[in-house]
Amino acid sequence: CGIVGYVGGQQAAPLLTEGLARLEHRGYDSAGIAVVGSAVRVVKRAGRVQELVGAMPKRIAGRTGIGHTRWATHGPASDVNAHPHTDATGTVAVVHNGILDNAGALRRRLEDAGVELASDTDTEVIAHLVARSEADTLEAKVVEALAVIEGTYGLAVVHADFPDRVVVARNGSPLLVGVGEKEMFVASDLAALVRHTTTVAHLDDGELATITASGFTTFRADLTRTDTSAHRVDVDPSAYE
Ligand code: GLU
Repeated sequence: CGIVGYVGGQQAAPLLTEGLARLEHRGYDSAGIAVVGSAVRVVKRAGRVQELVGAMPKRIAGRTGIGHTRWATHGPASDVNAHPHTDATGTVAVVHNGILDNAGALRRRLEDAGVELASDTDTEVIAHLVARSEADTLEAKVVEALAVIEGTYGLAVVHADFPDRVVVARNGSPLLVGVGEKEMFVASDLAALVRHTTTVAHLDDGELATITASGFTTFRADLTRTDTSAHRVDVDPSAYE
């Protein structure tokens, strides 16, 4: 349903939960975040963003992270089915808007390979696929995972071995990059960005992006760069308060 992401100089967790609160008007049944510090840490809950905030440990340090409000399509609203989803080692975390059409087949294939699935969601397979990729970069790992999934997605991925970045991909579900001062944001909706920046880049279907603290790059599934650029949107941030 809703996606937020952050890389920069500030602690990610409070920025992510604040961004999720700004997406609440879209409706959702669960919320969660993943923060990359010395490891990837996930906090997620069925229920309101406020309950997630209440469940947040005092120390969840990290300046890179992703967050999600879920509107369940595959599996009931529960703590386990809330996003982010991780692989078994907790190295990769993924949030996803949309519906994967071949999740059943991918779940069976992963189970045949010995993977224990933790949730009922379509989304979880993405975390396992990214974690199992032997590609060298997070971008190439995500591209490899996307090559076998079918369906609609806006998604955001973090990885313990690549703590400086969030990789996002869009196919049928909106995603925007927000450009800050030595910090970068992603969101599925402008409402989650305007408090921080009104300089945004809209991704196209089939496009991916990497955000780091210093900037963003956009590319296609063959890893060739695209020239999507950011522009100022003419909105009054106070209209979003
Ligand atoms: N299909 C995913 C799920 O059921 C994502 C739903 C959404 O867009 O929030 O978990």
